[in-house]
Amino acid sequence: MKKIIVVGIIFLLPFWVFSNKPFAIIVHGGAGTYSNDSIQNYKIMQVISDAVEKGYKVLENGGAAVDAVETAIKVLEDSRLFNAGKGSVLNEEGFVEMDASIMEGKELKAGAVAGVRDFPNPISLARLVMEKTPHLLFAGEGVGKLIDRFQLKRINPDSLVTPEKLQEIKSGKIHKKGTVGAVALDKYGNIAAGTSTGGIANKMVGRVGDSPIIGAGTYAKNSTCGVSCTGLGEFFIKQSAAFHISALIEYANYSLKDAVGYVLSEIMKMGATGGIIAIDKNGNIFFDYTTQGMPCGYKSSSGVKKVLIFK
Ligand code: ASP
Repeated sequence: MKKIIVVGIIFLLPFWVFSNKPFAIIVHGGAGTYSNDSIQNYKIMQVISDAVEKGYKVLENGGAAVDAVETAIKVLEDSRLFNAGKGSVLNEEGFVEMDASIMEGKELKAGAVAGVRDFPNPISLARLVMEKTPHLLFAGEGVGKLIDRFQLKRINPDSLVTPEKLQEIKSGKIHKKGTVGAVALDKYGNIAAGTSTGGIANKMVGRVGDSPIIGAGTYAKNSTCGVSCTGLGEFFIKQSAAFHISALIEYANYSLKDAVGYVLSEIMKMGATGGIIAIDKNGNIFFDYTTQGMPCGYKSSSGVKKVLIFK
């Protein structure tokens, strides 16, 4: 009898340990200006909530943080409501160039793509770069070759150019849509982060922002935190924003909240605005933004769930 109990304890111990580890996910839909259009805002909140739930389910079922991040970001990319994937804004010549990156915090593996023109889910390409190539960042023509090499289906770039988007560029009245991102901590203590964007509307052809730059738009390290940023990318690159937050925690003993606050204030001092979502190694969730709004949603194993656009 005693033997059965001991074997039972040994067998169940790992399950008990993992089931007591905190896990959490946070997603954002871009820092910017949002109107009071209640129907549009309702749709945005629904999609954010869906992304949070789908990502959370992955974590709850014992999946990896990186799977949760990719799953959540794909929901946002597919929704057309955000400036990412199918909803991406047009550059000054009237076509789409998307950027994305993903990183996992255990071995600091990362992947990124820039200037994607004919693939609907750049976050999945970034993951492919991370897991299936010896490289980290692919840009421009090389992204097309990557898609062909792995026999993925390209889409017609024109399918991403809608009459509404063209009209916006022509009229100069660009409907503000946001970059998307997600950060997750799984049951095994692994942190992952990802960001996906169409960049800045009306940007010059070839312009690349912070979203595919590891350390600027995205960063993850198990011993500190995971971070995804949104805002004028040039400034987030100058501040090495995502890595900066991790470094403040690691080398200066900052709390997650103080580290995010410090980096956002440095970006404000330079005259730019933006937002940041983050989760630290203990499962603390934090987000902040210096714009009028930022769609954002999170859920943690402690039972907290929240979805919002305005603080
Ligand atoms: N950070 C993105 C970029 O500069 C844009 C955004 O987050 O709104 O490409």
